[in-house]
Amino acid sequence: MSTVLDTALAELAAGLPDGALVTDPDVLAAHRSDRAPFCPSGRPAALVRARSTDDVSLVLRTAHAHRIPVVPQAARTGLAGGANAIEGCILLSVERMDRILEIDTVDQVAVVEAGVVNAVFSRAVAERGLFYPPDPSSWEESTLGGNAATNAGGLCCVKYGVTADFVRGLTVVLADGSVLRTGRRTAKGVAGYDLTHLFVGSEGTLGVITEVTLALRPAAQAPLTAVAFFPTPAAACAVVSDYMADGTRPSLLELMDRPTMDVVSAYRDLGFPPDAGAVLITQSDRGEQAAADLKRFADIAAVHDGDAIVSEDPAEAEMLLAARRLVAVATESLGAYLADDVCVPRRMLAELVDRVQDVARAHGVRITCVAHAGDGNLHPHVLFDPADPDQVERAHRAFGAVMDLGLELGGTITGEHGVGVLKRDWLTKELGPVGVRVHRDIKHTLDPRGILNPGKVLAAAGTTADAVAGDVGTA
Ligand SMILES: Cc1cc2nc3c(=O)[nH]c(=O)nc-3n(C[C@H](O)[C@H](O)[C@H](O)COP(=O)(O)OP(=O)(O)OC[C@H]3O[C@@H](n4cnc5c(N)ncnc54)[C@H](O)[C@@H]3O)c2cc1C
Repeated sequence: MSTVLDTALAELAAGLPDGALVTDPDVLAAHRSDRAPFCPSGRPAALVRARSTDDVSLVLRTAHAHRIPVVPQAARTGLAGGANAIEGCILLSVERMDRILEIDTVDQVAVVEAGVVNAVFSRAVAERGLFYPPDPSSWEESTLGGNAATNAGGLCCVKYGVTADFVRGLTVVLADGSVLRTGRRTAKGVAGYDLTHLFVGSEGTLGVITEVTLALRPAAQAPLTAVAFFPTPAAACAVVSDYMADGTRPSLLELMDRPTMDVVSAYRDLGFPPDAGAVLITQSDRGEQAAADLKRFADIAAVHDGDAIVSEDPAEAEMLLAARRLVAVATESLGAYLADDVCVPRRMLAELVDRVQDVARAHGVRITCVAHAGDGNLHPHVLFDPADPDQVERAHRAFGAVMDLGLELGGTITGEHGVGVLKRDWLTKELGPVGVRVHRDIKHTLDPRGILNPGKVLAAAGTTADAVAGDVGTA
């Protein structure tokens, strides 16, 4: 261990509460990676389990003084390698900062520590008759701080918006340990630059979020659910365009293609029709209007050869949604896959889904597609055998080709999972040279010594990405 690191760790041991600083190699190894498979990760020097903004501030002040890289971590459900360790870094976990500080039912706003789990919070506000809509499929594990740091989306974002739409203010510890409070708790407010949303989605590269002020909504009404099967994905996508253009705002509109249905069926037989090329699941939570919304959905589906079933029974509706929720676990059970996350204008979704299969054929790999269809956000999962180096190589090329396709169709390389390590090389394509320069300038202003999650989002200037991250490990 280097002298500089020894000195820094001794300072942290003296200043942090008992048990907060961990150097046990087994614990460090267990915290090395998030859930993105095949992303590089290095060997951390230490893990700090912060319990307060003061703890976070001490860690950053010390790391800044000694120029030691720090990787912020929460639940490590990330799918882009953003929380992966960097060689010789301090992992700074906010998972134990898990207190809901305030739920204000009058102003419909809440203040939470960054480590509060999304589902715990959503249930707590529901008990007060309120609603926190952003619902990433990882909601039972992922934290509100991690959701803010990645600007997470989810199933009902098609109607209510993503995490950024609910974040009103933050407490952020900057790279030098100073504590910044951004934003407001009021419904309106335009004082100064919008620093809050500079940090939302910054993936731990600009500061460490320790508290989040979140807007809430009145509880939504129980939704009605419909499912419709189509001969082709193109037909399903046409329904998505027509239904959304119709002025209806579904509270959920998800698509699965045939290869996804096959993966789910292999995991659990849910009785998908064998001849269906795609399925749409939709919900409306507009109370008395919901039945009419779903009738409209069924009518539009019929125009595109779709066969829709509206479920009046909440238990049956829950079963339909279960199929969608099983996609992640069913895909993970197959072993190795790379998860793309492209988002295109809705009108381009059909072309995207079709051309993803061209990519699959061209690279000799299997790609399944599941989409937050109402948002134009497609998750093509590139499946491969990790024991076959040739397949691994082809899968990586297919993964990149899908991002190129998303950009060609006027979209973005990532709708909700973030850039992390996985999509860094494509980000420069999306941002262009001026965009990259502005990103670098902002990063340099807030983190002049480059200690915060270096090599994530943008490769650290003057280094090769893999040299920063360390060696390649699987999640
Ligand atoms: C099964 C599954 C389903 C998923 N479904 C969705 C989905 O529907 N929608 C979606 O958007 N994502 C989804 N994800 C991805 C992931 O859950 C989200 O990105 C989530 O927001 C990460 O939160 P976390 O607490 O796990 O953060 P981590 O994975 O620990 O960290 C994520 C990134 O944020 C940074 N970070 C974490 N906490 C802080 C903090 N307090 N301050 C500063 N930086 C921080 C880390 O450095 C890292 O770059 C899914 C993941 C899984 C495994």
